[in-house]
This record gives sequence, C-alpha cells and structure tokens, in this order.
Amino acid sequence: MRCPSCSEDDDKVLESRAVRGGAAIRRRRVCNRCGHRFTTYEEVLRDSLMVVKRDGRLEEFSRAKLENGIQRSCLKLPISRQKVASVVDDIIEELENRYDLEIPAQAIGDLAMEELLKLDEVAYVRYASIYRHFENLEQFVKEAHLLRKAPDAAAAETVAASAAAAGTPPAPRKVPAP
Ligand SMILES: [Zn+2]
Repeated sequence: MRCPSCSEDDDKVLESRAVRGGAAIRRRRVCNRCGHRFTTYEEVLRDSLMVVKRDGRLEEFSRAKLENGIQRSCLKLPISRQKVASVVDDIIEELENRYDLEIPAQAIGDLAMEELLKLDEVAYVRYASIYRHFENLEQFVKEAHLLRKAPDAAAAETVAASAAAAGTPPAPRKVPAP
C-alpha cells in the first residue's frame, strides 16, 4: 500500500482487526521509509450483486438502500446504528448464501422482515407497512400471526395498533371482531 505521506510503496502491518462483525478488516500500517502511520479497510466488493425486480428488470444491489430502509424502520427505537449495520450484514450474508449473483427483490424484503421480527416488533411492522404492499390490514395481521405463531385476539389488536401507530394507511374496512 502506497504511503499517503511519502508515496513509498513499502509498509508493515502493525495490527489487523475484524470490524462490523467480520464484514470488513481494518489494518493499521506503518511506512518503512518515513514512519508515517495510516489505516486501511478491506471489504468484499458487492458491486456485482444484482437485484431482479418484480417486472424482471435488473438493478444493482445497493447496501445503502437496504440500510436506509432498516434505519427508517428503527427510527426513535432503542436500536443503535451499529445494530442496524450488523442486521444488514446478516441479511447480505444470507442472500449471498442462498443466491449466486442475482437476488429476487422479494427475497430481500422477506429476509429484512425476518430479521426485524427478531429485533423489534414495531420496527418489523413499520418495515412491513412501507415495503410490503399488503392488500389490507387483515391480510397483514394474518401474515404477522403466521410468522409469530401466536394467533390470539390480543396479539391481533397489538399488531393492528402498532401498524396504526407506525403510520400504516387506513385499512379499507374495519377488522371484524373475532
Ligand atoms: Zn512514508
């Protein structure tokens, strides 16, 4: 690595440390010529990952886009940016395990919802209401039940209330009392 101070291409690595849950490696280096110390980051390039949209078009995968979506769902919740970044790392790792270079758009949303469900119910409901287009509130509550495996009326009310609080558009009709 070329020294940013004297441009000599001769340095020694002092320390290597995995960061962001092993998604990147941080190296502390010292120039053998001038003694200048500098830091480099090494991470896997994900540029080649493509997303297959619902209409079949291909779009370059964007980590930032996924992270922004998760971050927005976690707004004002006690979830650190670091935690959000590690959730995104988990999702990407899982996508890379399951798919080669082309990822169906739906799979990203599904995995994000799975991870958020483990993390925080409110974040999950928000993500679902923004990124998944449920036909109506009933369908959403039903799906939430299937995921949580807790099909009781109390949970239905909680989920519906959370959805309303998270700014879900009003349902076309009221959920009938069970
Ligand atoms: Zn130097």
